[in-house]
Amino acid sequence: MAPVARAPDTLTLHPAATLAVRDGRVASFDLEGRLLTYFEDGVLYKRALDSSVHARRRVEGRRQRFRVGEARARWVFRRAREVAESHFPGSRGEARKRLRAILGWTPERLLAERDRFARVYKPIAILPPDRYFTIVLQATEGCTWNRCTFCSFYSGRPFSAKDPETFAQHARAVRDFLGKNALLRRDLFLADGNALALSLGRLFPLLQTAREVFPDRPVYSFIDVYSGERHQGEFWRALREAGLAGVYVGMETGHDPLLAWLNKPGSREELLEFVRVLKGAGLFVGLIVMVGAGGDRFRAAHFRETLRALAAMPLKPSDIVFLSPFVEDPRSTYRLRREAEGIRPLSEGEIEAELARLARAVRRLGLRAARYDIREFLY
Ligand code: SF4
Repeated sequence: MAPVARAPDTLTLHPAATLAVRDGRVASFDLEGRLLTYFEDGVLYKRALDSSVHARRRVEGRRQRFRVGEARARWVFRRAREVAESHFPGSRGEARKRLRAILGWTPERLLAERDRFARVYKPIAILPPDRYFTIVLQATEGCTWNRCTFCSFYSGRPFSAKDPETFAQHARAVRDFLGKNALLRRDLFLADGNALALSLGRLFPLLQTAREVFPDRPVYSFIDVYSGERHQGEFWRALREAGLAGVYVGMETGHDPLLAWLNKPGSREELLEFVRVLKGAGLFVGLIVMVGAGGDRFRAAHFRETLRALAAMPLKPSDIVFLSPFVEDPRSTYRLRREAEGIRPLSEGEIEAELARLARAVRRLGLRAARYDIREFLY
């Protein structure tokens, strides 16, 4: 970052974002001048594109996250704006231009981003943790299966796919909504849950449009084994040539009885074959494992069989195994089933210990392990 003004507080301009610091308060803004993050009194606030505000702080060594209400969001927007206002009188040139753009975003205007977002997107349920700063394009809505007992990401949203014209309108609307902010986002994500379940004939025009509207960006997407394994190697190679760079697979576990108990189709053998096909096509693979799923009944076998499955995969050091602390949805079928069968859920401490143990074991296999906390998701 190249500092352009430095007294009495700090104002730094960055090709990507503007950062203003004062009295321990820190605010960052995107290239349109919209707030990205604000820090005050040990609390970090992050504004999502729909202008919801998510806060994070540490209390007695434990991380707390919460979504703030509208009144608090308005307060955050006002406080961040004050930081920018304090820099305005002494500013010159590019800094002044950027500050003027920031000050154009009143709290009311920022709050109105919620309605703009809703005109462009259906709610974005989840993304992989290394793609929170991507450009999401909703080629499909919902999930083709939608019956895993633990998952409520797309409940009430039947699976549907956009036709090429509707998708092109959507992509252009996303581009208009993001504005210059799109320059900060270096890849594309085809959502929702199983966009790559579509046939090549349906996917090709969508990928082409995505890359025309947002050129030179690699494309990523989620895919589950039961949808992905229906496609042959040539399908994946063709998508690779059309711009697909990698996929994220909800593996959940390498233990088949647990997978069946979660009501997720597929098996370890099918997963191994699927990963072989993906790697043969030259794609990045991110595998997501749910640590703590199945509670105490499945704990030992889940750990052992997941590791065994990972060890058998032809993964490269660039691939990633995401370890996701299991979060039980109190309204889920999972919860009902677990209680009915008397399974004890692992405590947060037990899940963290299991995650650390699995991460060490995964790294001993020569693979990359990364934490994936769905409670921190933000787009
Ligand atoms: S396949 Fe994935 S998105 Fe669909 S219900 Fe299962 S976990 Fe959720």
